[in-house]
Amino acid sequence: MHAGSDRLDSVIVGAGFSGMYMLHRLRQAGFAARVYEAGSDVGGTWFWNRYPGARCDIESMDYSYSFDPELEQEWEWTERYATQPEILRYANHVADRYDLRRDVQFDTRVETAWWDDGQACWIVTTDAGDQLTAQFCIMAVGCLSTAKTPEVPGLDRFEGPWYHTGRWPHEGVDFTGQRVGVIGTGSSGIQSIPLIAEQAEHLTVFQRTPNFSMPARNAPLTPDFVEQCKADYPERRELARRSRVGVPLGVPTEELATQADADEREQRFCAGWEKGTLFGLSATYADLLIDKAANETVAEFVRQRIREIVHDPETAEMLAPKDHPFGTKRPCLDTGYFSTFNRDNVALVNVRKDPIAEITAHGLRTADTEYDLDALVFATGFDAMTGPLLGIDIRGRNGVALRERWAEGPRSYLGVSVAGFPNLFTITGPGSPSVLSNMMVSIEQHVDWIVDCVTFARDRRSTTIEATAEAQDVWVDHVNEVAAFTLLPTANSWYMGANVPGKPRVFMPYIGGVDVYRQICDDVAAKDYEGFTLA
Ligand code: FAD
Ligand code: NAP
Repeated sequence: MHAGSDRLDSVIVGAGFSGMYMLHRLRQAGFAARVYEAGSDVGGTWFWNRYPGARCDIESMDYSYSFDPELEQEWEWTERYATQPEILRYANHVADRYDLRRDVQFDTRVETAWWDDGQACWIVTTDAGDQLTAQFCIMAVGCLSTAKTPEVPGLDRFEGPWYHTGRWPHEGVDFTGQRVGVIGTGSSGIQSIPLIAEQAEHLTVFQRTPNFSMPARNAPLTPDFVEQCKADYPERRELARRSRVGVPLGVPTEELATQADADEREQRFCAGWEKGTLFGLSATYADLLIDKAANETVAEFVRQRIREIVHDPETAEMLAPKDHPFGTKRPCLDTGYFSTFNRDNVALVNVRKDPIAEITAHGLRTADTEYDLDALVFATGFDAMTGPLLGIDIRGRNGVALRERWAEGPRSYLGVSVAGFPNLFTITGPGSPSVLSNMMVSIEQHVDWIVDCVTFARDRRSTTIEATAEAQDVWVDHVNEVAAFTLLPTANSWYMGANVPGKPRVFMPYIGGVDVYRQICDDVAAKDYEGFTLA
């Protein structure tokens, strides 16, 4: 079976970092594969999110593939946190280096994937009219690839241009001389707002929920630092794989904020704040994400920093998050976000208090006020984790639709497979650490595990491998139990599906830790894929 024919060993949906690495590994293992990608080139997230200020918030040296020592030695990152163009160049370099594009069909969206019981294969159709059958179907569709524009009436009447950060025009946007409105203050808003403010004549930020954000302390990487990192790469990568969140943090502390003396706590938080990393603060004590009182100590620490940075006390209070515990919505790293609100050309509007009523021909109207705007930016996020999967009409055994199966929220075994959907795999799917980790580490772990799994099935001459309903139930219970032990399910976050009206409220990722999760997956494999049936 070879690519080019209508029946292949495997079909991969998506050519971001997941789909690219999956293609490479499947080829190495001797499987013929074809990738379908809706975008016109590789890179996924980094192909689509071209808004000003877009960059990673996991350090570049760690937010990169580890599978090939030559690749990690030859590639040169220039900044502590690489910009979107640099990460996209990296994705292109990888595509060239491993000759990936010859098996990728771009500008092609997969619309349906139906399991055919008789032939024991997946039948996949696309918007370009392709139909192909494959034994294995691998969903590398991403967790944050379905951009979400809010359900505000009147957008069709707006006479100016509007943009979503996750679908930014390739040619860039010049806001010079314009009155711009940005809706949304998650990571995308927090990264883009400072740069839009510098360019636009006036910027109005429409904020529903203020977010916890820490200074990134981004800087060019020095040759000495890079040399040292590269020399240490084997240990650095292993530390990341064996950590809770996929970065080389070392052993987590067991000390509790609630038992610490206030001065000592302050000192430790200051040191965490200075680090300029996503986990600088949350790693300071073991109880911050599980105990509300402990969490309040770090939340108040961040609010104090915001009050120091923002000159106008009323604006500072609006920006200081008080409605959710620190870390229960994904925290952000920023460069000059809070100080942007000291600029004369920037205004902050609290749309929780004064909700957006409609978009008008010339701007936006809240319940109380009309704002004249030349351009609108939606930094309103994504239908996360399940959105890209349920965007495809996936049907398993007996024609059962995944949309039906997941009507009450996603259910999977290990976040990688779904009972009733044989030979289907989801990379960084709901029920795996995924978005709670350095995604590169989680992507590589899933891809390696899936390739081993399908190789195992092939070696056993099995045509199907499928999670059992019992194993799935046990896993889902475990995922929920671990989440309930933390404060994370208490927030209206996209982890909970709360940003999409009508979406079931389920904590989707697995919060047990990258290290624990890897061990569980390895144990399952070592026990001949316990919890799966082969036929
Ligand atoms: P994606 O990169 O999302 O790729 C999926 C691809 O599948 C897309 O190109 C999409 O077009 C395609 N696709 C989806 N559905 C279909 C279909 N039906 N048919 C055909 N093609 C389809 N993670 C981190 O760990 N660190 C970071 O610093 C970080 N920064 C981020 C910044 C932004 C702005 C965003 C949005 C996310 C960020 N993430 C970060 C998460 C990021 O998504 C992952 O790190 C990683 O890039 C995901 O790779 P992926 O290949 O799994 O998914
Ligand atoms: P997000 O975190 O979901 O933020 C969306 C923002 O839009 C929120 O402030 C939300 O308010 C607001 N919003 C949504 N609908 C609205 C409405 N109808 N009216 C008013 N406000 C509305 O999305 P994101 O910023 O794109 O980030 C998504 C994820 O992508 C991040 O959490 C992160 O994992 C990743 N990311 C990473 C980086 C990085 O730094 N490397 C950058 C961008 C994205 P509510 O909070 O009230 O819902």
